[in-house]
Amino acid sequence: MKKDVIIVGGGCIGLMSAYCLQKSGRSVTVIEKNDITNGTSFGNAGLLSAFKKAPLSAPGAITDTIKLMLKGESPASVHPTFNLHLYKWLLKFAASSTEARLRRTLALFERYGQISLDMYEAMVEDEGMDFHFRKDGLLMIYTEQQTFDAKAAHCTDPDAYEILSKEKTKEYMPILNDKVIGSILLKENGHIDPGEMMLELKKYLEAKGVEFLLNEEVDRLEFEGSKVSKIRTSKGVYEAETFILSTGADDKLARQAKNKFMMTPAKGYSLTFKMNEELMPKTTSLFADLFIAMTPRKETLRMTSKLELGTTDPSIVKKQIDSMNKNLAQYTNEFERRDVVEWSGFRPLTPNDIPILGFDENYKNLVHATGLGWLGITFAPSIGKIINDVITIDKKNETNADILLFSSFFQG
Ligand SMILES: Cc1cc2nc3c(=O)[nH]c(=O)nc-3n(C[C@H](O)[C@H](O)[C@H](O)COP(=O)(O)OP(=O)(O)OC[C@H]3O[C@@H](n4cnc5c(N)ncnc54)[C@H](O)[C@@H]3O)c2cc1C
Repeated sequence: MKKDVIIVGGGCIGLMSAYCLQKSGRSVTVIEKNDITNGTSFGNAGLLSAFKKAPLSAPGAITDTIKLMLKGESPASVHPTFNLHLYKWLLKFAASSTEARLRRTLALFERYGQISLDMYEAMVEDEGMDFHFRKDGLLMIYTEQQTFDAKAAHCTDPDAYEILSKEKTKEYMPILNDKVIGSILLKENGHIDPGEMMLELKKYLEAKGVEFLLNEEVDRLEFEGSKVSKIRTSKGVYEAETFILSTGADDKLARQAKNKFMMTPAKGYSLTFKMNEELMPKTTSLFADLFIAMTPRKETLRMTSKLELGTTDPSIVKKQIDSMNKNLAQYTNEFERRDVVEWSGFRPLTPNDIPILGFDENYKNLVHATGLGWLGITFAPSIGKIINDVITIDKKNETNADILLFSSFFQG
């Protein structure tokens, strides 16, 4: 029997699209090759960081990374590869890092970040989903005086920023040592436990009748004229009115529909552990110079870092874990970590921090929802809303203002 909407990929983008579409009365099936318990949408830091936080493609990003590389502290690395697409991506990244684009991207981030924060809040307050969600700011910690002073000079709005001395910063994060210079609290941001959110959302969707086909990989799209007629999975063949591809960093199916998106997998790591409660950071914190995030959750702390390009190897490489620990240890006192869980995953990264959203240019019933890079959790609710609106209300990319503003089909 022909299904209504099939969503391929059960990460945060697929599930939030399912959430919004079922609210619009659509009947939804999610097909996921794994079991929705350990993908990129689970192991990430959970920062909701859309406010006053520069995108990756900010002016100075490349020189800052080179400086850190020279100091041996860089979180970013590019593996040697013959992949021409990656070099094109890097060129586009360099070209996107301009002041004019930065201002526009920051405004878009705030718009879609606010919609997302409100939707997460409603999921907890109104729908009764039980996941760790806090709107208590993001503490940007600085380890270099010059960078701190330059940044602090611009943080004049007391509703958005609080500048904290070294001592005040240590009150927020008691494990810090004296090498830390100070911090800036970006007050409008927040954080969640992404794994808890995903599990609660899946439970909610199942109760609302959303069908989940798990451990089933979609191998092939089949086409008839200007439509996708069927998809073939490891277990069967399915037809649907509309197909959504929310497969994260894996663009295999998008390529079958003749797309070569400017997107690359960017590998990152997380370490999740228990520590003494009195040493836990009071809110989520990011070492601005080192790209290490520390997120407190109900019973554990999650530390994330690294941005490796040019690899699709999912294994956990000890050298990378050691380097995260070494970078952090420079600025913290020793503290005990218990029950450490190591994890790695891939961000679906576009060169200008703008996602890939909307109807396919060749196939009328195929919709793309990916390219959220390092901010998929931050924006997942608003992306679900945009995908729902373009399918159920506007029916075309050109008549959906959000897609015109926030999709790389129009802002490439
Ligand atoms: C270390 C790290 C830290 C991060 N920290 C943050 C953060 O603090 N805040 C934030 O906002 N974002 C963060 N991110 C980014 C965020 O995790 C991602 O942007 C987001 O999870 C992407 O969601 P997605 O649904 O697009 O992709 P995914 O979560 O990767 O989901 C895609 C799903 O599609 C499935 N799939 C793929 N191909 C097929 C197929 N052929 N058939 C069936 N299923 C398929 C995959 O199994 C996967 O489950 C971080 C990422 C990393 C790696």
